[in-house]
Amino acid sequence: MKPPGVSNSEAREIKYLRLSITDSCDMRCGYCVPHRTSIAHVADPLSSEEIALLVNAFAKNGVTKVRFTGGEPLQRPDVTGIISSIVGIPGIETVGLTTNGRYLKKLAANLAGAGMRRVNISLDSLDRKTFRLITGCDALNDVLDAIDAALGVFEKVKINTVVMRGINDREIPAIASLAMSLPVEVRFIELMPLGHSASEWDMMFVSASEIRRALGNIEPLPYSGDSSARMYSLNGGRSRVGIISPMSEDFCYGCDRIRVTSSGKLRPCLRLPVEEDIRPLLRDTELPARLGEMIGRLSHHKLPQASLESAVQAEAMCSVGG
Ligand code: SAM
Repeated sequence: MKPPGVSNSEAREIKYLRLSITDSCDMRCGYCVPHRTSIAHVADPLSSEEIALLVNAFAKNGVTKVRFTGGEPLQRPDVTGIISSIVGIPGIETVGLTTNGRYLKKLAANLAGAGMRRVNISLDSLDRKTFRLITGCDALNDVLDAIDAALGVFEKVKINTVVMRGINDREIPAIASLAMSLPVEVRFIELMPLGHSASEWDMMFVSASEIRRALGNIEPLPYSGDSSARMYSLNGGRSRVGIISPMSEDFCYGCDRIRVTSSGKLRPCLRLPVEEDIRPLLRDTELPARLGEMIGRLSHHKLPQASLESAVQAEAMCSVGG
């Protein structure tokens, strides 16, 4: 289902930067850190000064929206300073962060004070045992408290749920009902086989059409172009849920995203193992121009629809940042 008005051949204008500021995470979600392997952590992630320099250069190249991710971005002790250093950069209109929520309650007010307006919180189960099974830790209440705290201070709060057969697929209606009881947008995400074997992924994968069936009475909303999710109204139009379907439906059309990994590599596509080291540019007096060239060069790798096979080859999400 290609979003209306978006064509294959449209030039990709990059507006949205997803920046992984650490690959370290206190949770061990099996879909993100497959087999709960220990990831070789980047010894030297980008410093806060380097991040500010880079975001400035991205803004000069047309980026208007920045999202910090990881790993777990709230594990960076300097995360509030990072946010405040980029909030005022000319051209940057939106600053957000994606978190597992465990430490968000404590940090929410400071992050909002630093100028952050949006947060996405991962929540894959409302059942304590299942939550522990998925994440490897007993933090469901911390995450639920974090959602409350976030609603008090941020303009937009979204909840992300990766759907897995036999693990949390039965909870789709219960998790969707959060969008009825709270002013949040709930988005269900198809499992991507990043770092999984094909058979492992096959067993757990739940398609967007199955998710729609489980949601029951939903109506598609017009494509806003502002999100990777297809949005639906729920509850007679009073609530909204989204489905992010990178695997079973057209997903790449009109993608305006670019990623910087925690090790400072620029990646044009989540699914393709194509990247270039951005660090050497940081010492270049012509940083914005050099970065512009690199963005242009790598953007050519963006495909109308990146293949499933390429996703299988790509590395674990915790290194790339989701
Ligand atoms: N630690 C943060 C968190 O838990 O949200 C940020 C990093 S996480 C890599 C960012 C997003 O990627 C989360 O919404 C997570 O659910 C999603 N994600 C990770 N692995 C995935 C996979 N294999 N398939 C689909 N989404 C995935």
